[in-house]
Amino acid sequence: MKAAVVRAFGEPLVIEERPDPEPGPGQVRIRVEASGLCHTDIHAAHGDWPVKPTPPFVPGHEGVGLVEKLGAGVTHLTVGRRVAVPWLGRACGRCEHCLSGWETLCEQQINTGYGCDGGYAEKMLAWADFAQTVPEGISALEAAPLTCAGVTTYKALKVAGVRPTQLVAVSGVGGLGHLAVQYAKIAGAQVAAIDVTDDKLELARELGADFVIDARTQDVGAELKRLGGAHAALALAVNPAAFEALNSGLRRGGKLVMVALPAHGTIQVPIFDTVLNGNSVVGSIVGTRQDLAEVFRLHAAGRTRVVHETRPLAAVNESIDEVLRGQVKARIVFDLGTGR
Ligand SMILES: [Zn+2]
Ligand SMILES: [Zn+2]
Repeated sequence: MKAAVVRAFGEPLVIEERPDPEPGPGQVRIRVEASGLCHTDIHAAHGDWPVKPTPPFVPGHEGVGLVEKLGAGVTHLTVGRRVAVPWLGRACGRCEHCLSGWETLCEQQINTGYGCDGGYAEKMLAWADFAQTVPEGISALEAAPLTCAGVTTYKALKVAGVRPTQLVAVSGVGGLGHLAVQYAKIAGAQVAAIDVTDDKLELARELGADFVIDARTQDVGAELKRLGGAHAALALAVNPAAFEALNSGLRRGGKLVMVALPAHGTIQVPIFDTVLNGNSVVGSIVGTRQDLAEVFRLHAAGRTRVVHETRPLAAVNESIDEVLRGQVKARIVFDLGTGR
């Protein structure tokens, strides 16, 4: 089977021929149909973050495909079932986080495409208990972006505690942002979408954004304040300055939810304003299996639209460059054999 492999940080990925991986106890082998390109994969390939993966490794945590082989003890999945393999490849199931509905905070977790090989391959392994079954009617190409971009923004809105009529600011209308706009609308909020390209602002409008703010020419904080201030602001753009701009556009009692992970990010949070205004700054990391199940259910019900462009896996390095240049409207999905 072919896999796109990071052999060294910062080097182009190499397409390698590898033997099919054998599922261990509790695992399944999946014939991958589609695999999304998330910015996290680029950080992984560059070794950008304090905790680094160990090359050689296969990135990708939006892999979707058909179960092909069951490891020992797997009884709830069957061969041929379509599943998605998210960032949360495995959690311990026993710690206080796992037991309190916060398995995404488990300190023993193994992350797909980071702590173990991921979805940039024709075949991959997954822990069966963490492979999410994809409902009938959702194609692999659409399921892929939902597996990280979808669940991550859906969870961020839960963390924000958004209620109907509130104003939600979404900074960065890409793979994550285009879904965040839709989930915020489903939650009954008004949405102000912020970006720096005409295409993405247009896309946000098409997907239901009530307001768009062009961060190239407009003062984001002032514009949000002019709208009354954001009850919740999702920081999805990989740019610390965008986080600060959002923070300055919160309404009293508002919440800044940090989601994007710039390689070397710190922001200044003004103490005086934060205290007087009773604002919060909170981080939100992906979502649980239950969150992903809800994301898939919404999509199966026709409530969301996934905007994606397909590429062959052989174009992995060019695709990464496109993302880094900001040329991709929403999500690139590698088509590994959906028959299209
Ligand atoms: Zn991701
Ligand atoms: Zn745990």
